Amino acid sequence: MITRYPAPVADPVTLEAHALDLLIQLIRIDTTNPPGGERPAAELCAREFAAAGIPAELLEMAPYRTNVVARLAGSGGGAPLLLAAHLDVVPAAMKDGWRHHPFAAVIDNGYLFGRGTIDMKNMAAMSVATMCALARAGIKPRRDIIFAGVADEEVGCDHGSKFLVEQHPDKVRAEYCLGEVGGFSVNMPGSDRTLYPIQIAEKGICWFVLRARGTAGHGSIPREDNAPARLGAAVARLGKTRLPHRVTPVVERYVAELARAQSRVRGTVLKGLLSPRLASYVLKALPNASMRRVFQAVLANTVSPTVLRAGSKTNVIPATAEAEFDGRTLPGQTAQDLIREVRAALGPEFADLEIEILREHGPSVTEPHASPLFDAIGATLKQHDPQATPIPYMIPGFTDASQWNRLGIRCYGFSPVRFDAKDDVQFGDLYHGVNERISVDGFKWGARVLHDLVKSFCA
Ligand SMILES: [Zn+2]
Repeated sequence: MITRYPAPVADPVTLEAHALDLLIQLIRIDTTNPPGGERPAAELCAREFAAAGIPAELLEMAPYRTNVVARLAGSGGGAPLLLAAHLDVVPAAMKDGWRHHPFAAVIDNGYLFGRGTIDMKNMAAMSVATMCALARAGIKPRRDIIFAGVADEEVGCDHGSKFLVEQHPDKVRAEYCLGEVGGFSVNMPGSDRTLYPIQIAEKGICWFVLRARGTAGHGSIPREDNAPARLGAAVARLGKTRLPHRVTPVVERYVAELARAQSRVRGTVLKGLLSPRLASYVLKALPNASMRRVFQAVLANTVSPTVLRAGSKTNVIPATAEAEFDGRTLPGQTAQDLIREVRAALGPEFADLEIEILREHGPSVTEPHASPLFDAIGATLKQHDPQATPIPYMIPGFTDASQWNRLGIRCYGFSPVRFDAKDDVQFGDLYHGVNERISVDGFKWGARVLHDLVKSFCA
């Protein structure tokens, strides 16, 4: 069943209706990055804030790559809370198999379809609606509540959070941030608990190029020092190497909590992930491949070959061949640590290959994760879902948190949404996926949770 959504709510009656209306409008603004073009989405948020009497400003590093920052002023009884959401989305097209156009925001069978419904215009819509509701209710918070709707997260944050942190730090400086990725419900089979992973850590990046040099020559006379051949052999080796198993405190806690939510036997097997000796057996025993890959990625530094470059003519042997690698570092590890592991995996045979780092930033961790805000998250979740169990965890990728962290902001990935166990929709499959969608009821539930959390923590 397809519901045609009615005209926008002119005078928002409820928080939930306002948030849903905003989400639908935001989805219909195509902010695919590249190229981005976030300005209409940022303007929409700014207009909503203005209507509720909250000052907001638009900030951009390049035309049309717009960030919106709004502040609901508090009485100074605490340092600010930042609500953060990126306004850009990754590409999506009907030909990939979408059931509804990814920018049409169609409601079908209780789900709102569209690119950005989960990642993460839902958080933008909930945050704007929450601040507007607090302002309209005449609530004066103790601490400032800031909203940053940012550009460019999907391509590396340069026009968004990085620009704000470097050029306008005072506009976004806060004690805490709520953003991505977390707050979604995970129903554990055979358990009455509902887990809510909350991101407190993310891996760093070390993107590098691996370069082989040889002698250029005519393709009719093969040479032993053929650069593409040597590079290919090195790439193949790294492609199938698993870098050393490393257990970080955040993953250790996460696995322990997951194990606790399972039967005794399953829990014990799961804990084997923490043992360098047993991990590979447990990984093989995991129920699905995507779970296996994610655990592998948080238990080691990783490298994925992504770009290959060599030669331009079939009958000319090029003097150089290059491969780019997406390297990711665990908390406690540096780019240099990762390069050392790569060198060790390549061995003496490839010692002459050059490595050049293209881009790096360190991992980002909110440690210890315990704080008054984390407690408030747990308490608010429990009010709305008595079975809720918040679990701090680490994602293998990076988010704007890596930038907010540079200002000393303690970041939690918490953009609450509830999935109905009977729908069998996996959050992980929706992220950047085809038919990205959000349960309308689950979204409204999340908007209420966020509102109540912000109100109880700040007011
Ligand atoms: Zn995202």
